[in-house]
Amino acid sequence: MQELQEFIREVKDFPKPGVVFKDITPLLVNHSMREQALQSLISLMPDRQIDVVVGVESRGFFFGTLLAAALKCSFVPVRKPGKLPFQTLTQVYDLEYGQDSLQIHTDGIKKGDKVLIHDDVLATGGTAKAVCNLVEALGGEVVQCNFLMELAFLNGRDKLKGFNTKAVVTY
Ligand code: IMP
Repeated sequence: MQELQEFIREVKDFPKPGVVFKDITPLLVNHSMREQALQSLISLMPDRQIDVVVGVESRGFFFGTLLAAALKCSFVPVRKPGKLPFQTLTQVYDLEYGQDSLQIHTDGIKKGDKVLIHDDVLATGGTAKAVCNLVEALGGEVVQCNFLMELAFLNGRDKLKGFNTKAVVTY
C-alpha cells in the first residue's frame, strides 16, 4: 500500500522564504489515495455521532466536505473576514507577527450540536483554537479537531489542550 506522505508534496519557500509548504494537491488528484486519506480521517473518530463538520478556509474545505458527506451531516465553512455573506461571528487570534481573524455564520451551529473541526494542517494551533472558540460561542460541542497533518515541532497541541486532537500524519 502506498503511503499518504508520498502524495504530500513539500514546496520550499512558499508562501514566503524559509517556509516548507505541505501541498496536498497531489493527494486530491489521486482518487484512491484521496479515498485512503478520507478513510484515515474517519478512523480517527470512534464517536461518529456528528451534527456538523466545520471546515477551515481554504484547504479544510476539501476533506471537510467529504467528511460531512461520509458522516451524513452538515458542513459549515469558517472563512477569512468579509467572505461570508450573511450575519457572522468573528474571532481574532494572534499570529507570530500581528493578528488575524476568522468568521462563521451565526446560524451555522445550533446549541448542543456535536461538531468535528477539520483542517489540512495543524501548525501553531492558533487557527484551530480560534475555530474552537467560534463553535463554542455558538453553543456547539467540539467533539474532535482532526487534521491530515500535524507539524508536531510547532506544538500546536499546547493551544488545543482540553480538545480531542488527532492527525493522520505527524511530521
Ligand atoms: P496554525 O494556525 O499555525 O496552526 O496554522 C494552520 C493553518 O495554516 C491552517 O489553516 C493550514 O491550512 C495553514 N498551513 C500552515 N502550514 C501549512 C502547510 O505547510 N501547508 C498547508 N497549509 C498550511
